[in-house]
Amino acid sequence: MRNLAILGSTGSIGRSALAVVDEHPARLRVVSLAAGENADLLAEQAARYRPQLLAMATAGAAARLRDHIGTAVPVAEGAEGLVAAATHPDVDLVLCASAGTAGLEAALAAIEAGKAIALANKEILVMAGEVVTAAAARCGVPILPVDSEHNAIHQCLHGRPRGEIRRLVLTASGGPFRTHSREAMRAVTPAQALDHPTWRMGRKITIDSATLMNKGLEVIEARWLFDVAADRIDVVVHPQSVVHSMVELTDGSVMAQLGVTDMRLPIQYACSYPDRWETSIPSLDLTRLGQLAFEAPDHERFPCLALAYRVLREGGTAPVVLNAANEVAVAAFLAGDLPFMGIPEVIAHTLDAHETGPAASLQEVRAADAWAREWAAAFARGVELRG
Ligand code: MG
Repeated sequence: MRNLAILGSTGSIGRSALAVVDEHPARLRVVSLAAGENADLLAEQAARYRPQLLAMATAGAAARLRDHIGTAVPVAEGAEGLVAAATHPDVDLVLCASAGTAGLEAALAAIEAGKAIALANKEILVMAGEVVTAAAARCGVPILPVDSEHNAIHQCLHGRPRGEIRRLVLTASGGPFRTHSREAMRAVTPAQALDHPTWRMGRKITIDSATLMNKGLEVIEARWLFDVAADRIDVVVHPQSVVHSMVELTDGSVMAQLGVTDMRLPIQYACSYPDRWETSIPSLDLTRLGQLAFEAPDHERFPCLALAYRVLREGGTAPVVLNAANEVAVAAFLAGDLPFMGIPEVIAHTLDAHETGPAASLQEVRAADAWAREWAAAFARGVELRG
């Protein structure tokens, strides 16, 4: 029996994780659930899964949840509530799937408490890859990737030593604008960008997929998860999203993991690893698909990908700044305050203005994150900052 904490249980990944629990009630038990603002859905989940602890991001949401469920289950709130859900003594596996950067402290607290981590929130490694992987190594806890590409690589490697890896190849769907001209991309609306061709996901990651920043963040994530240098991590556009990623080994052999596009599969593998469990997920029908296509990414139309490689070369706080500026720019785009092609512009400008320093402590990470958010927001508003 694995005892789960699910951080972000009302989001897309969290709901898929609970669907995995539904299929394996004798193997998986929910101990704690944490969500942002959606008290209605968390109340439903609490009634169904009977966790021992609930957490909500704000006091207002926590109060709404208590109105629904009474005092039967304790409701924690805010950043401390997320940490409490992640470190509950009965938990042994923490699924980190809360949106954005709020989950970083909770993930670190879980690692310090000796909990295994199933990582869906890539921002945690993008921001604090050095801090998080050092803590995991020190505490002897595994970080199991849930992101479908990294989960695929994890499956292909299956414990193979790092010295046998020649190259990692992350596949990208290319998003909804894969075949758009540069001109057409200037006029893209939030509604168009939110309409992803192969994956149903949350809003922020869907925009990241449309700019290819999602793949850029995944290159950074792969660098930390598998301890492979950026110049040995490639990205290939693969519109069908059937090959979830590949590993080229030292002898030139390429291992690939294929599957239907259903996040229950990588979530379940993170829960079952190193075993495999049956699922109700339908089989992949390759003859119906007929063809699998691969093409090189267009860096001119998708400058975000090159920005991710740039921050890996710069190291230190540069990835923190990339991530923060991207979050600000995506929020401004979704609010209708920034054009689509303004997203890479805001990020590049913020990186140009940043003086890279070390990112070996949480304080350094947080300081760079706060600085970048302020700069990016001002630049997105058209305000010139000095210094
Ligand atoms: Mg992914």
